[in-house]
Amino acid sequence: MPRPLRATIHLDAMRHNLARARACAPGARVWAVVKADAYGHGLARGMRGFAGADGLALVETENAVRLRELGWTGPLLLLEGIFDASDVALLRQYGLESTVHCAEQIDLLEHANLNGPIDVHLKMNTGMNRLGFAPHACAAAHARLRAIAAVRRITLMTHFANADELEHPHLGMREQLRRFGVGAAGIDGERSLSNSGGVLRQEALAGALASDWVRPGIMLYGGTPGGRSALEFGLRPTMTLSSALIGVQQIDAGEFVGYGSRFRAERPMRVGVVACGYADGYPRHAPHGGPVQVDGVRTTLVGRVSMDMLAVDLTPVPGARVGSPVLLWGAGLPIDEVANAAGTIGYELMCALAPRVRVTEDDLEPHG
Ligand SMILES: *Cc1c(COP(=O)(O)O)cnc(C)c1O
Repeated sequence: MPRPLRATIHLDAMRHNLARARACAPGARVWAVVKADAYGHGLARGMRGFAGADGLALVETENAVRLRELGWTGPLLLLEGIFDASDVALLRQYGLESTVHCAEQIDLLEHANLNGPIDVHLKMNTGMNRLGFAPHACAAAHARLRAIAAVRRITLMTHFANADELEHPHLGMREQLRRFGVGAAGIDGERSLSNSGGVLRQEALAGALASDWVRPGIMLYGGTPGGRSALEFGLRPTMTLSSALIGVQQIDAGEFVGYGSRFRAERPMRVGVVACGYADGYPRHAPHGGPVQVDGVRTTLVGRVSMDMLAVDLTPVPGARVGSPVLLWGAGLPIDEVANAAGTIGYELMCALAPRVRVTEDDLEPHG
């Protein structure tokens, strides 16, 4: 029998969340972001779950090629653009749209022998200070791109640093929008603005955030970008991580549990041992007291997470025994809550799902 740990991917929830993104940003076309192996869900599943998107966006050139081989015929966008001259040929060969965020990438395009049209996305740095041209440098970058015969459409894009806060003390969305307006003035073409946080704030910013394209990622996987919970945003979890108890210990008061003997029992108690550890992608920094569900009952982690196992307090679940089902995250136990307890974010837990975890799908409406 295989180890009981498994991840279940819910394609119907992916479709539901995509519909939420569309409802939040009416009039915008949607790039479904499938970088990092569709946030740990598997590239092919991302392609199927988001078949209704207007395009798929990612950062890995080899995965863009794979999406073509898997049969994706719609638009594909490289969010970090090309990395060297050899990538230029891929743009034409596979029909990839490319972000252009620095002068070096324009150099590559100018020197390439492009025998056909390509579409590019000129990235403006509006304060995130990661990738992109400063607002005042965008007109010149745009003119250089315009002068390349093979360049067809040029979309203007930027990325929000604090999309969960309109009025962030350091850099709110309003300020980034203001800078974008300055840099984009007089440049025509489509606009691509919002990640999940921006998509979910469209209404609050009443039109100021409207754009031709949006680029949601985490919300499509049922995670919150921050601000409110995924449930409050009307999102459904797309990944369930479940396992079972493979051992139960009855321990005396004063006994310790796990590596480092970090947890000490204050009273006699039953401890369950779950087949799931950090080599599966469960956060090793999850603290004593982190949430977990056994037999449908909420309880807590005890002691350190080890490579293949973690331990849980069975006090609230007296009927639990070897074989009892354990929910690590999923419906009823939000991945964001588990992440918070471990000092991280849902994004990281999804992306960290390890290759050894068996993945199955459930799809309530396979042709939906
Ligand atoms: C990852 C990414 C997104 C999606 O961000 P989420 O917070 O997951 O919605 C959007 N745009 C760019 C440029 C990205 O790199």
